[in-house]
Amino acid sequence: TIGMLAIDMSGNLSGACSTSGMAFKMNGRVGDSPIIGAGLYVDNEVGAATATGVGEEIVRVCGSHVVVEMMRNGHSPEEACKKAIERIVKRNGIEKAKELQAAFVAINKQGEVGAYSLIAGFTYAVHTPDGAYTREAKHLL
Ligand code: ASP
Repeated sequence: TIGMLAIDMSGNLSGACSTSGMAFKMNGRVGDSPIIGAGLYVDNEVGAATATGVGEEIVRVCGSHVVVEMMRNGHSPEEACKKAIERIVKRNGIEKAKELQAAFVAINKQGEVGAYSLIAGFTYAVHTPDGAYTREAKHLL
Protein backbone atom coordinates (compact mmCIF):
# COMPACT_ATOMS: atom_id res chain seq x y z
CA THR A 1 0.00 0.00 0.00
CA ILE A 2 1.06 3.53 -0.70
CA GLY A 3 -0.60 5.97 1.69
CA MET A 4 0.11 9.69 1.54
CA LEU A 5 -0.94 12.51 3.84
CA ALA A 6 -0.31 16.19 3.20
CA ILE A 7 -0.75 19.55 4.85
CA ASP A 8 -0.56 22.73 2.79
CA MET A 9 0.68 26.18 3.79
CA SER A 10 -2.83 27.14 4.93
CA GLY A 11 -3.02 24.07 7.17
CA ASN A 12 -5.42 22.15 4.96
CA LEU A 13 -5.08 18.38 5.17
CA SER A 14 -5.47 15.78 2.47
CA GLY A 15 -4.71 12.13 1.94
CA ALA A 16 -4.75 9.32 -0.59
CA CYS A 17 -3.93 5.65 -0.72
CA SER A 18 -3.58 2.89 -3.26
CA THR A 19 -2.83 -0.81 -2.91
CA SER A 20 -2.31 -4.00 -4.82
CA GLY A 21 -3.85 -5.81 -1.84
CA MET A 22 -2.48 -8.90 -0.11
CA ALA A 23 -0.56 -11.65 -1.90
CA PHE A 24 -2.75 -14.66 -2.83
CA LYS A 25 -5.91 -12.70 -2.04
CA MET A 26 -9.33 -14.16 -2.85
CA ASN A 27 -10.95 -12.99 -6.05
CA GLY A 28 -13.16 -10.04 -5.16
CA ARG A 29 -11.48 -9.33 -1.84
CA VAL A 30 -11.82 -5.74 -0.67
CA GLY A 31 -9.08 -4.64 1.71
CA ASP A 32 -8.86 -1.59 3.91
CA SER A 33 -7.50 0.88 1.36
CA PRO A 34 -10.75 1.55 -0.58
CA ILE A 35 -12.76 1.93 2.64
CA ILE A 36 -12.76 5.43 4.08
CA GLY A 37 -12.24 5.17 7.82
CA ALA A 38 -10.23 1.96 7.49
CA GLY A 39 -7.25 2.55 5.18
CA LEU A 40 -7.60 6.31 5.07
CA TYR A 41 -9.35 9.04 6.99
CA VAL A 42 -8.97 12.80 6.80
CA ASP A 43 -10.74 15.34 8.98
CA ASN A 44 -9.61 18.84 8.14
CA GLU A 45 -10.43 19.99 11.69
CA VAL A 46 -8.17 17.43 13.37
CA GLY A 47 -5.76 15.37 11.29
CA ALA A 48 -5.34 12.59 8.81
CA ALA A 49 -4.27 8.94 8.95
CA THR A 50 -3.55 6.08 6.60
CA ALA A 51 -2.75 2.41 7.05
CA THR A 52 -0.85 -0.51 5.66
CA GLY A 53 -0.75 -4.16 6.61
CA VAL A 54 -3.38 -6.88 6.88
CA GLY A 55 -6.43 -5.04 5.65
CA GLU A 56 -8.97 -7.34 7.32
CA GLU A 57 -7.60 -6.37 10.75
CA ILE A 58 -7.50 -2.68 9.86
CA VAL A 59 -11.12 -2.77 8.66
CA ARG A 60 -12.28 -4.55 11.84
CA VAL A 61 -11.12 -1.67 14.04
CA CYS A 62 -11.90 1.16 11.55
CA GLY A 63 -8.21 1.88 12.05
CA SER A 64 -7.59 5.23 10.37
CA HIS A 65 -10.77 6.65 11.86
CA VAL A 66 -9.66 5.52 15.32
CA VAL A 67 -6.33 7.31 14.80
CA VAL A 68 -8.01 10.59 13.85
CA GLU A 69 -10.46 10.35 16.77
CA MET A 70 -7.57 9.74 19.16
CA MET A 71 -5.90 12.89 17.85
CA ARG A 72 -9.19 14.74 18.34
CA ASN A 73 -9.07 13.61 21.97
CA GLY A 74 -5.63 15.16 22.39
CA HIS A 75 -3.21 12.37 21.57
CA SER A 76 -0.14 13.04 19.45
CA PRO A 77 -0.06 11.39 16.01
CA GLU A 78 2.31 8.69 17.28
CA GLU A 79 0.22 7.97 20.39
CA ALA A 80 -2.94 7.89 18.27
CA CYS A 81 -1.40 5.36 15.87
CA LYS A 82 -0.31 3.26 18.85
CA LYS A 83 -3.89 3.22 20.21
CA ALA A 84 -5.20 1.80 16.94
CA ILE A 85 -2.47 -0.86 16.90
CA GLU A 86 -3.37 -1.77 20.50
CA ARG A 87 -6.96 -2.42 19.38
CA ILE A 88 -5.75 -4.88 16.74
CA VAL A 89 -3.63 -6.68 19.33
CA LYS A 90 -6.52 -6.76 21.82
CA ARG A 91 -8.86 -8.30 19.25
CA ASN A 92 -6.40 -10.99 18.24
CA GLY A 93 -4.36 -11.70 21.34
CA ILE A 94 -0.61 -11.29 21.42
CA GLU A 95 0.35 -14.65 19.91
CA LYS A 96 -1.87 -14.26 16.83
CA ALA A 97 -1.02 -10.58 16.53
CA LYS A 98 2.67 -11.47 16.25
CA GLU A 99 1.82 -13.20 12.95
CA LEU A 100 0.27 -10.01 11.55
CA GLN A 101 1.55 -6.65 10.46
CA ALA A 102 -0.33 -3.39 10.53
CA ALA A 103 0.94 0.15 10.63
CA PHE A 104 -0.51 3.63 10.70
CA VAL A 105 0.89 7.01 9.76
CA ALA A 106 -0.76 10.22 10.93
CA ILE A 107 -0.45 13.97 10.73
CA ASN A 108 -2.29 16.48 12.88
CA LYS A 109 -3.53 19.99 12.15
CA GLN A 110 -0.26 21.40 13.54
CA GLY A 111 1.74 19.40 10.99
CA GLU A 112 3.16 16.96 13.55
CA VAL A 113 3.77 13.52 12.07
CA GLY A 114 3.84 10.13 13.77
CA ALA A 115 3.47 6.43 13.09
CA TYR A 116 3.30 3.08 14.86
CA SER A 117 3.42 -0.52 13.72
CA LEU A 118 2.40 -3.85 15.16
CA ILE A 119 5.74 -5.58 14.58
CA ALA A 120 9.12 -4.20 13.58
CA GLY A 121 9.93 -3.15 10.07
CA PHE A 122 7.73 -0.23 9.12
CA THR A 123 9.62 2.70 7.62
CA TYR A 124 7.91 5.85 6.39
CA ALA A 125 9.03 8.99 4.62
CA VAL A 126 8.52 12.59 5.67
CA HIS A 127 8.96 15.49 3.28
CA THR A 128 9.13 19.01 4.69
CA PRO A 129 10.31 22.34 3.25
CA ASP A 130 13.62 21.62 5.05
CA GLY A 131 14.16 18.28 3.35
CA ALA A 132 13.09 14.69 3.15
CA TYR A 133 13.99 11.81 5.42
CA THR A 134 12.82 8.37 6.44
CA ARG A 135 11.89 7.19 9.92
CA GLU A 136 11.49 3.77 11.41
CA ALA A 137 8.18 3.57 13.29
CA LYS A 138 8.11 2.28 16.87
CA HIS A 139 6.38 -1.07 17.16
CA LEU A 140 4.21 -2.68 19.81
CA LEU A 141 5.36 -6.34 19.66
N1 ASP B 1 -3.55 -3.04 3.41
C1 ASP B 1 -3.48 -3.74 2.13
C2 ASP B 1 -4.64 -4.67 2.01
O1 ASP B 1 -4.97 -5.37 2.95
C3 ASP B 1 -2.20 -4.49 1.94
C4 ASP B 1 -0.92 -3.72 2.16
O2 ASP B 1 -0.84 -2.78 2.95
O3 ASP B 1 0.07 -4.09 1.56
O4 ASP B 1 -5.22 -4.76 0.95
